Formats: sequence, C-alpha cells, structure tokens
Amino acid sequence: MKYDLVLFDLDNTLLNYKRAEVESVEELRVWLDVKIDSDLFHRTYKRINHKMWTDFEDGLIDVNLLKTERFRKLSLELGFLCDPSNCSEKYLYFLSLKAYPLDGMYDILDKLKGKTKLAIVSNGLSKVQYNRIELAKLNQYFKHIFLSEELGASKPDIEYFEKVFLNLDWKELDKAIIIGDNLNSDIKGGYNFGIATCWANLFESEYTSGVKPDYTISELNQLEKILF
Ligand SMILES: [Mg+2]
Repeated sequence: MKYDLVLFDLDNTLLNYKRAEVESVEELRVWLDVKIDSDLFHRTYKRINHKMWTDFEDGLIDVNLLKTERFRKLSLELGFLCDPSNCSEKYLYFLSLKAYPLDGMYDILDKLKGKTKLAIVSNGLSKVQYNRIELAKLNQYFKHIFLSEELGASKPDIEYFEKVFLNLDWKELDKAIIIGDNLNSDIKGGYNFGIATCWANLFESEYTSGVKPDYTISELNQLEKILF
C-alpha cells in the first residue's frame, strides 16, 4: 500500500449528499406547507446554506448558529413564517434518513478493508452523520470517525487534523492521504497539514483553488490505482 492511513470525507465523497439535500429541502418545503415555487425555495436555500458553511469554515460563525440561522434567513427572504429551530430539527431529521452510496463505494472499501487504516473525517452535523453512517453500513469499514462537532475543530483548520492524528497516534504524515470533494476543507486543509490529497471530483465541479491536489479522480474506482 502506498498509504497506510486513508482519510475519507463523507459527503459527496462516499455518500451522495447532493441528492440527500435536494430531497430533504423538498420534504421541508412540503412540511412547511408554504406556497412557494419549489425551484425558488431550493435555489434560495442552497445559496444561503452555502454562504453559511463557508462562513463556518472560515471560523466566522459556530455550527449552532448555522443550524438555525439559515432557516431564519430563508423565511425572511421568501416571506413565510417559521420557527427556525423547529425547521432545523425537522430538516436534520429528514436529512439523517438519507444515505445514498456513490457509485463504487462498497467496491473500493471492500478492497481497502484490512489493508490500510481507514477513517472518516467530516464537518457534517454529528446526529445526522452517525445515522447516515449506520444506514449505509459504513461502520463495518470505519472504526475511526472524526466529526468536527465532537472534535471542537473543523476542516480545513490545522487543529482539526492535529486532533485526528493525535487521536490515532499517527506520526507518519507521508503515509497518509485525505480524499474529499471540497477544495477548501479537504484539499487545502490536507495540504496545509502536510499529507497527500486526492480531490474526489465526482460531480464534474469546476476547479477553483490555489492548492493543487496530488491526485484527482472522477470515479471512486480510480482510487485503486492511487492507493495500491
Ligand atoms: Mg464533502
């Protein structure tokens, strides 16, 4: 094995978060029973949510504020009434029930299992992630799961990676790699910490970053060549 420690991001790297999000936002819209065009509702939510996650990754807001504030902003912008904490709870519940493995996920994990140390590194919300990890039966592959809410630090902060490596008691940075879809939290974070990086560009995203990943894949099965 080229890498003895493989860190996997979860959303849009192993599980299809795009689909889970679209379905959950739609379920929330139906639950709210508001007469707002579905496209507009989704577009607005996506924009607000994206901005808030970027602010969170930049350390400008904490995760608890993010959870509710996105729905307060959404209701203000689209002009409907809702209790942001109720909205948040409902939405997270919908989301926690959706775990859609991306193509080739089980194949590559089956090949890696027992041959290298595997860990999940995610900034996603703990309650949601643990449920989705269980639904997708990922516990059989991952004994080590590092969620930012529990670590008290998040990708791309060096502190997050330090806590992960301390926890694993892992010192060989040159034998570790992070695989993720996010050019900031996964790729820049991994690069700054000093480990190899693989950009999982499974949705044909545009490359917008100052940090060049060591590897780029468009399908999970391409990992075999990189890791073995
Ligand atoms: Mg991700």
